[in-house]
Amino acid sequence: MANKPTTKPSKDEKGPPPIVLKGLNVSPGIVIARVHLLADEAGLVGRRVIAATAVKEELARFDAAVKSSLEDLQKIYAQAEKEMGKEAAKIFLFHKGMLQDKSLLNPMRKMIETDKVCAEFAVSATLGQLASAFRTKTDSVFATKVNDIDDLATRLVRELQGEQDTRLKELNHEVILVARDLTPSQCAGFDRKKVLGFATDLGGRTSHTASVARALGLPAVVGCGSLAAEVAQSGAEWTLAILDGDHGEVILHPSEAQVAKTLEYLEQKKNYQITLNELSDLPAVTQDGVAIELLGNIEFPEEVKKVIDDGGVGIGLYRTEFLVLTKGTDATEGEHFAAYKQCLELLKGRPLTIRTLDLGADKYTQSRTEIPERNPFLGLRSIRYSLKNHASFKRQLRAILRASGLKTCTKGQIKVMFPLITSTSEFRQAKYLFNDVMEDLAEEGHAFDSKIKVGMMVEVPSAALMADTFAHEADFFSIGTNDLVQYTLAVDRTNERVAHLYNPFHPAVIRLIRDVARVAKRRNIPLSCCGESAADLEFALLLMGLGLRTLSSTSSTIPQMKRLIRSVKIETCRRLARQALSMDSDVQVQALMRERARKIVPEAFGLEE
Ligand code: PEP
Ligand code: MG
Repeated sequence: MANKPTTKPSKDEKGPPPIVLKGLNVSPGIVIARVHLLADEAGLVGRRVIAATAVKEELARFDAAVKSSLEDLQKIYAQAEKEMGKEAAKIFLFHKGMLQDKSLLNPMRKMIETDKVCAEFAVSATLGQLASAFRTKTDSVFATKVNDIDDLATRLVRELQGEQDTRLKELNHEVILVARDLTPSQCAGFDRKKVLGFATDLGGRTSHTASVARALGLPAVVGCGSLAAEVAQSGAEWTLAILDGDHGEVILHPSEAQVAKTLEYLEQKKNYQITLNELSDLPAVTQDGVAIELLGNIEFPEEVKKVIDDGGVGIGLYRTEFLVLTKGTDATEGEHFAAYKQCLELLKGRPLTIRTLDLGADKYTQSRTEIPERNPFLGLRSIRYSLKNHASFKRQLRAILRASGLKTCTKGQIKVMFPLITSTSEFRQAKYLFNDVMEDLAEEGHAFDSKIKVGMMVEVPSAALMADTFAHEADFFSIGTNDLVQYTLAVDRTNERVAHLYNPFHPAVIRLIRDVARVAKRRNIPLSCCGESAADLEFALLLMGLGLRTLSSTSSTIPQMKRLIRSVKIETCRRLARQALSMDSDVQVQALMRERARKIVPEAFGLEE
């Protein structure tokens, strides 16, 4: 995706020097636009300059936030007094006192008036300075007050930020959004006409926010470390930046030369894309005649069209949880049904694998749950969540089955898949409920496919190691490398600090995939891979060599996958897989695959070098 710069760096203007920050290139595409910092709960806010005519309104916003915070604090105080006693509750009276202290409030109001900055920045800068001054004092009384000041700043900024969503909607020009972190649903809710791409300080390569960005074709760089602080402190808010989702880079205040180089790269990329598009109607067959089924992963039904346009022959993974995430509450049976019906209409007989809700972990913010989990990735997520919420699970299963009975649905077109299966009892419970729902629907006289295939994701080591056992239970397997890597290597897939350890080329991961593929072959179980690695040119060679014949990925990656498949012999892939399996380190395997992939499809890497 490319866009024209909305602002040009001026030749005469002596602007600040460019600042280059590196991150992870999680969603391709390059955009040049102005930066907008999404304030976060830690009180990190950008220095947004306001017009002189807007000062009065900004002061009113500030006063309203103070008033509302005082009311909240009064409620919290009353509650705390009841639960904790008068003495312990006093702390909130102290916070209230600070918020009524003119010597604290006036400098913030003055800053809004004289510096013409937004209220959030005035709060965070003024209270930030005060906290820093207190930190330098040796007296412990001051040290304890630092927390109170930070608390107050967070409260006020959050109060002002309540309007953040509305303000994003009110943006009147295109921006690159910068934030400390973003949830998948925040990302899904962006107005695509205004938010051209985003960069975050936190996040890993296969976090679900990254998946949504790819699905939406929104260029994104995550794990940038200190970009948000850099924007806040350097006054880069609203200045020009280059967001490079191809190479994982953000350039604040780019020079004219950097902008020109980027535009030149975009031109080359456009030409390469044209050559890829020419392949969209050709089959994905290797040079020695082995057909590979290329499917698309989707989060929203509307994406089906793009998958087909990009040359995909169906949907290998529909992440249905996004129905719930975008709505903010559980979906009704009708909403599930409508979404599946829409997919079927667009697919016109092509396969559709519906994965049941994979909620939990990074798919809703822990702060939104009633009881935040300490280890959400090891917590009540996915099938575990569904098995604890029967009513919700059954609503979804009913909708899937009803969709399978539609006239627009051909026999066997819909398959259902359970996520994060770790034990046979989980799979059996899920199937038991599924059969229950079938009985109910039959009694009610609904049509459905009673032979519907029921499969499972293989995305935790226990499932991979027990593939032989699961082969008695499941109709098909789909390997989810995003989670399989995370759980095999004990690396949080969303944590930028350990992103360097998150490597699908690790021999342990490859051996697990080999074992699952062997079982699938021996037991005649259809097998696919729907993790992000399925779309990695280097990793895909390995998957094909290990025996996989169905790969499912974000639609935009399908054309280049087809180019790879049409350029290689399966025998070469097998040889490479054998070589990789004899190696004992991820570095070795990756180097081998990198070297070979560059030989097989040099044009795919030509732009990088
Ligand atoms: C996976 O884990 O590889 C997968 C496809 O599922 P998700 O990314 O939705 O967790
Ligand atoms: Mg997964």
